[in-house]
Amino acid sequence: RFLVLEGIDGCGKSTQIEALRAWLPISGLMAPGAQLVVTREPGGTALGQALRALLLRPPEGAAPCSLSELMLYAADRAQHVEACLRPALAAGDWVLCDRFSGSTAAYQGYGRGLPLATILQLESLATGGLTPDLTLWLDLPLAGSLQRRGDRPADRIEAAGEAFLQRVSDGFATLAGQRGWQRVEADGPREAVTQLCCSLITEHLGG
Ligand code: C5P
Repeated sequence: RFLVLEGIDGCGKSTQIEALRAWLPISGLMAPGAQLVVTREPGGTALGQALRALLLRPPEGAAPCSLSELMLYAADRAQHVEACLRPALAAGDWVLCDRFSGSTAAYQGYGRGLPLATILQLESLATGGLTPDLTLWLDLPLAGSLQRRGDRPADRIEAAGEAFLQRVSDGFATLAGQRGWQRVEADGPREAVTQLCCSLITEHLGG
């Protein structure tokens, strides 16, 4: 089973991923012997980690244009699908992934304004048609996300400005409707959000 968490920066994805990492193996949902692979984009492979560093903290003067950025994310994804996701799923393991193609549509599509057709073309090339069995969208209003972030040093994307992040945030909401993601109200206490995630996973991936 292939499970993805999506959402804007600061929505609590990492915290929920850690909670799900602990819960999934004892949830009774995974077949005996199946492993849980927890991974992320960008950066789920060794090549991906190098690409992640390049994308988030490029050397002085080396910030990519929007199309290069899209292609670097696509390269990260192609490597991730080939070297990590497909082998794990073929072995019957479960994959829990922090971001997937939804983030590309939200950040590079709605955020950067690249044409949807271009996004979909690269998505299809990079994934070879692999889609998640379930995508949970952690929905936190932008104001809440900025507040949670506080004065944590921003990476290149987080520093892109509030108008950009608002387009990304609105994009996630639109995509959730179009792609059949499950919305998780992420504004509450951490344990309540985890509870919601667990019930949605049981409802959609149980049995
Ligand atoms: O979720 P995580 O902190 O790992 O994301 C890393 C950064 O990459 C975030 O700032 C996110 O906004 C950005 N990102 C992006 N486009 C994507 C995926 C992530 O701009 N397709």
